This record gives sequence, C-alpha cells and structure tokens, in this order.
Amino acid sequence: MLKVYDDAYFMRQALIQARLAATMGEIPVGAVVVASGRIIARGHNETERLNDVTAHAEIIALTAAANHLGDKYLLDCTLYVTLEPCPMCAGALHWAQTSRIVYGASDDKRGFMRFGRELLHPRTKLEFGILHDECAELMTEFFQRRR
Ligand SMILES: [Zn+2]
Repeated sequence: MLKVYDDAYFMRQALIQARLAATMGEIPVGAVVVASGRIIARGHNETERLNDVTAHAEIIALTAAANHLGDKYLLDCTLYVTLEPCPMCAGALHWAQTSRIVYGASDDKRGFMRFGRELLHPRTKLEFGILHDECAELMTEFFQRRR
C-alpha cells in the first residue's frame, strides 16, 4: 500500500519530537522541516538542556535545515510545529523566508497570532489546527504533571 505523506503524517513526526522533549523534562514542543516530501531537519525544545531561552523547537529545526540545505533561506520548505510559534520564532521564520508553516495547537498567551500573521514573511503560507487535540493534550499533560 502506498503511504500518504500528508500534513497529518508530518505533524505526527513533529509530535514524536515533542514527546522526546517531554521525556527530557523540556516543554513538549516538536518541529520538523520538510522539503520535496522529505524530512530534512527535526528539533524539539531544548531550553533546559542548553540553558538557552532561544532554544525553541522551531529555532533548532530552522538551524538544522539551513545546515542541511547549505542555505539560510527555507524556500520550498514546510515547517511543522506542534504549537503555535512565539513571536521570536515567527520572526526567525520570517527571516528564513519559510515557504509554509503548519502548526497544531494554538497558544493564546504566547503565540504570534495575537500580533497577527504580519510577523511572518508575506509569501509564507500558513495552516493550523492539524492534529490539534493531540498537540494540545501533550502540553496540558506536561503542565499537569509538573504541578
Ligand atoms: Zn518560539
């Protein structure tokens, strides 16, 4: 049977990264970058391990993708992330001219959408709500366990 590599498939790969972060005591956010239907970079939140507030899943994946491509611009790339990016990551994804961003759960408090999608590059296509419940549950579980 032919495997369908759709948005849900790649979001599931981002979820695997997010769960990995949770096992390391990091906030469970995961990201993958896809080019020509292939994953070229993965990342998850590493702010605790790296002692670095900028080590968000998107930044890690963005840097890994740029290294893979040998190009700082993520043209023809889709970044999948389990949680709505924060304004810092939206800014970084803007600088990278990321072609497409897909996120799962929304983040009403810290997400960039409060400021509007103008934070993204004008050519960036945006989609959200893919596997929303799974992505949101992971966050809820994590913060319940920490309390
Ligand atoms: Zn961020």
